[in-house]
Amino acid sequence: MNLIYIKFYLNRKRYSSKNSKNAVRINMSKKIKTFINQYTSNLPRLMLQIVFLIIVVVIGFTFSSFVNLLETGTIPDFERPPGVEAFLPLSALVSLKYLLFTGTINSIHPSALVLFLIICLTALVVKKGFCSWICPIGFLSEMMTTLHVMIFKKKINLPAQVDLLLRSIKYLLAGFFLWNIFFKMPVTSIERFIQSPYNRFADVKMLKFFTDISTTSMIVIGILLILSIVIPYFWCRYLCPYGAVLSILSFLSLGTIKHDASFCTDCGVCEKKCPGLIKIRQNKSINSSECSACMTCIKNCPEKEALKFSFFPGKRAVGQPVIAIILVFLFFMGISLAKLSDNWHNKITKSDYLQYIRQNSMPAMPWGLKGKIAPEKMERMMQKMIELQEQSKQ
Ligand code: SF4
Ligand code: SF4
Repeated sequence: MNLIYIKFYLNRKRYSSKNSKNAVRINMSKKIKTFINQYTSNLPRLMLQIVFLIIVVVIGFTFSSFVNLLETGTIPDFERPPGVEAFLPLSALVSLKYLLFTGTINSIHPSALVLFLIICLTALVVKKGFCSWICPIGFLSEMMTTLHVMIFKKKINLPAQVDLLLRSIKYLLAGFFLWNIFFKMPVTSIERFIQSPYNRFADVKMLKFFTDISTTSMIVIGILLILSIVIPYFWCRYLCPYGAVLSILSFLSLGTIKHDASFCTDCGVCEKKCPGLIKIRQNKSINSSECSACMTCIKNCPEKEALKFSFFPGKRAVGQPVIAIILVFLFFMGISLAKLSDNWHNKITKSDYLQYIRQNSMPAMPWGLKGKIAPEKMERMMQKMIELQEQSKQ
């Protein structure tokens, strides 16, 4: 009798553990399916996000190789990718003031200004579409939010008052930079800043920030990543000053989400899915500064006519492919015009970069700091510089 019971017990245990394993497997595949569905239902947007992410990675690698070669005393036989200046928003703001006061685009970081103007233009056409269709940080925030939902089973947002308070940080940051550059800095200081080594080689400094990252920076980035998992869109919603500028400009956007209450069944799905936490049902037209034209609300709305994105009241709805084409067109046209008018590549020579890198990586410094470049490499760099200087004299 006892033997029968033990057999029964073992079988039951085996069966239940098999069952629980199956349940875990089903649960996992369900989560993966939800993850894939969420992304593939926004295919044009996802494709654009991936394309721009690849472009940013290629630019990063090319620039890193450019600087690495210079550090070994070799002059690269390829050009520095101008797109790297997309990560120099301060240079772009200073250049914008210089342009407004002098009518000329400075030649130190022209593509920083060009890309800044293109991004601002996108906000006048498709709201904060740059954030949800192009920006790699926006893409990363979106993935972190998906991870958040997978961990917590649903989106947990901060209480409305805390959210409002925290949202003011990005406007304060943007206001601080705009106020200081546009109202406090005289044009003479602007000119000095543009020509300063700090600004001229800001791209190298920015690269070094990531390649020679300090422990403090790593801790800060780590905290931001964790916060982005715990609080959906933490960086984009509360801290990004670029996003704050686009939010303000997006009030003038030609395109907006329109809500037609006569077709709406008040199910609330759109608001539940909206990454901007916007009260969609209360409005005819979504004028919120948080709308990033991500089209998630439209994709999830069960009533075909209740929500649409259009450029003028009463006009035809515009779908995701049209927004993707508009964004690509704006970037393509802006960069092409900059190239044609010779405002794309900067006028800093490879010899200038070499000299800057040499000065900032001395093998032995009088105050005891250790250099990063081996003496033989330094010698080769010096040799190259002399050659370049001689070539430029001829
Ligand atoms: S879900 Fe709709 S309302 Fe919300 S941010 Fe995206 S497009 Fe704007
Ligand atoms: S998802 Fe569509 S039907 Fe439901 S509340 Fe939003 S607009 Fe109305």
